[in-house]
Amino acid sequence: MENLNTIRKIDELGRIVLPNDLMQAMGWAIRDSILITFSKQDEAVTMKLHEKAPEPKCDLCKEGKPKVTMNNIGVCEGCIERFKAM
Ligand SMILES: [Zn+2]
Repeated sequence: MENLNTIRKIDELGRIVLPNDLMQAMGWAIRDSILITFSKQDEAVTMKLHEKAPEPKCDLCKEGKPKVTMNNIGVCEGCIERFKAM
């Protein structure tokens, strides 16, 4: 992606949705923290990555990477296998 020029509407809560190709080009992911800076002189807003979100962990063992999510609870492959063995 060389340049981006797109129009997005601000929703009722003041949010905008970032284009997927922008997210990919910047290496940003869901839950990353973005620093938003406003320059009154330029009347421009810039956004930079502030902090990558930590990798999600299994909500049961707190170690594995969640494979499935049920009711907002992420469960890893190992825990799924332990349930199957019960
Ligand atoms: Zn687990």
